[in-house]
Amino acid sequence: MRISEYKGFETGPIRPPSEHASLLLRVTRNCPWNRCKFCTLYKGETFSVRSKEDVKADLDAVKLCVDTFEEMAGQPHEEQERLHRRLMSQLGENGQFAYLEALDWYRAGMESVFLQDANTMVVKPADLIEILEYLRSLFPQVRRVTSYGRSHTIARIPDEMLQRIAEAGLNRIHIGMESGSDTILTLVDKGADKQTHITAGRKVKAAGIELSEYYIPGLGGREYSRENALETADALNQINPDFIRIRTLSVPLRSLLYKDYQDGVFTRTDDTDVVRELLLFIEKLDGITSVVKSDHILNLIPEVDGRLPEDKEKMLAALRWYLDLPEQDKLLFRVGRRTGILHSIRDFNDDDLRETVVRLCRQNDIHAGNIDSVVTKLMNRFI
Ligand code: SF4
Repeated sequence: MRISEYKGFETGPIRPPSEHASLLLRVTRNCPWNRCKFCTLYKGETFSVRSKEDVKADLDAVKLCVDTFEEMAGQPHEEQERLHRRLMSQLGENGQFAYLEALDWYRAGMESVFLQDANTMVVKPADLIEILEYLRSLFPQVRRVTSYGRSHTIARIPDEMLQRIAEAGLNRIHIGMESGSDTILTLVDKGADKQTHITAGRKVKAAGIELSEYYIPGLGGREYSRENALETADALNQINPDFIRIRTLSVPLRSLLYKDYQDGVFTRTDDTDVVRELLLFIEKLDGITSVVKSDHILNLIPEVDGRLPEDKEKMLAALRWYLDLPEQDKLLFRVGRRTGILHSIRDFNDDDLRETVVRLCRQNDIHAGNIDSVVTKLMNRFI
């Protein structure tokens, strides 16, 4: 019996924000590339592919939990306790990890699954298809199965195979394009050039899989900020992904990019530079119907969010609003957003919230001379 051979349920360290309600199913561990200079997620960790038997055993454990939760529903308290004890003994050692993950997923409605870690697309297609088919057979109600994938890997998967993976149930892929500029992609050691990103993105869409592309404003520093906006917009215009997700650059102290910064190779943008870059980027998005999402705390202006082309002007207006602010108001808005006091432009017009930010700046002596270092420290809290 599969459960009796179960060696331990695993989850990896991250998921996209949009996957907060998903079951996290670890198919691989860590990142097979692991060289991007801005990324510290898996540094020092070795990549490995979990056996399909282990992944299926994870699914069996979740299925056992879900079936038990359904059996418990409406039962008296004592019976629920008995069923819970039975479940934990069936799950065996470390069963609490499967139990907690399954419980969160059950409560969230069991509609989506996220395959971890950094690049599930590197798994042998036949194995990935077997895992997907097994997942779909156990949980036919699941509407979305998502994975991260590297462009370099996806560009090498034959179209028919990608089609079969889609038919087996993978229906959304997140790709970290980060930038469409070959100069920047080389500088940060992304391991994929602009053309590879375009090829991979188009292949995903042609297979009928929903595509999310990530863009990192600020990744080119001050020197390549304009190029980052122009080249990334150009690449995305050639792909027309379903989603463009904005993830403003932060530079963790332990990242290779921070070393480049210390060595003077990389010049950091501040919030206002990034807003200017984003303005140019959004202006240049053309002929596509993507949804732009600012679904990350690192982004200064959450209103850069909407569907193209109809919401383009609204997004540009939000960016221009910030650029037109007097310098002191820019400072207050930055502090308000980075401390979580302000959630939106609208909050900035709330007198009480604004006064809270003013008081915070006064108490902590935040001013034009130290705002950049304060913001950097605050942003590093979120990574
Ligand atoms: S491919 Fe993704 S996870 Fe891997 S190093 Fe680059 S950014 Fe990090």
